[in-house]
Amino acid sequence: IIQLYVPLNWFGTYYRAIQKNFVDMENMFDLLREEQEVIDAPGALPIAMKRGGVEFRNVSFGYLPERVILKNITFSVPPGKTVALVGPSGSGKSTIIRLLFRFYDVDTGSIIVDDQNVKTVTQESLRRAIGVVPQDTVLFNNTIKYNISYGRIGASDTEVVQAARGADIHDRIQTFPSGYDTEVGERGLRLSGGEKQRVAIARTLLKAPIIVLLDEATSALDTQTERNIQGALSEVCTNRTTIIVAHRLSTIIHADEILVLKEGEIVERGTHLNLVGQEGVYAAMWKQQLQSRDNSSVENSLEQSVDS
Ligand code: ATP
Repeated sequence: IIQLYVPLNWFGTYYRAIQKNFVDMENMFDLLREEQEVIDAPGALPIAMKRGGVEFRNVSFGYLPERVILKNITFSVPPGKTVALVGPSGSGKSTIIRLLFRFYDVDTGSIIVDDQNVKTVTQESLRRAIGVVPQDTVLFNNTIKYNISYGRIGASDTEVVQAARGADIHDRIQTFPSGYDTEVGERGLRLSGGEKQRVAIARTLLKAPIIVLLDEATSALDTQTERNIQGALSEVCTNRTTIIVAHRLSTIIHADEILVLKEGEIVERGTHLNLVGQEGVYAAMWKQQLQSRDNSSVENSLEQSVDS
């Protein structure tokens, strides 16, 4: 199972605090920042966001000096385009996302957002420009309205409804006992994984970031839920620079570029059609996912196809 952004061993003493309080990745980053060595450069200015172009230039990185995790990673996501990361567990997908958030600094190479090296800008401004849809969204024990409006505190009711519609969860909310005022979370109405992910999407729609990072849920979803999520995801990606960590290849058929990672290296890259035509790693993963679908097994997660 993917542990995007925050492996347990980072949690340390913050674990409890996070469990209680964290709502989204940005928050978690704030909590964890104190543990990080990354600090703003003296006199760092806020990033000047334009259209959200992202570039990795020959990036190498290891959490520990003796173990290189990413090796010479180069790719770019032009403004508004979508790049998908796939590959077996441990291949470095989440690490790429963490570096883009500047959770860590690269060892060599550079990460450039709208022509600015992320090392030179304030972390706060960088993170404000990036929205994250995590695979597991933790909800506040509060109303569904509050949970959505957290994407942008102060959003009007109309904006909240609009975001919920965009995330394809409005109709569902209408069926809740008190509509938008229904209490959700541990002590209220429990939402399913798919519903929670749509709440995260609604929040991100409200936040309206220029760059979006998506961590697709690994858990198997039923076909209808998957269809709803797909619709909501494409809504949140439209006209935004998007990086998606994908587990179901069906999600990324339309990505502008797919990077196949293996042991920290990009071993294949191209569009879905290019890659299925190549008889390589991706084509094998694709075949396996089709097969597991045919066998109507619930597991079409990439991890399992690759690991087995
Ligand atoms: P998954 O799909 O399972 O999440 P991934 O492709 O996202 O995998 P990463 O989470 O990027 O993989 O991990 C890449 C490698 O880095 C793994 O070998 C992992 O053990 C290691 N790693 C991740 N986080 C840390 C950390 N905080 N300290 C040390 N090593 C880490």
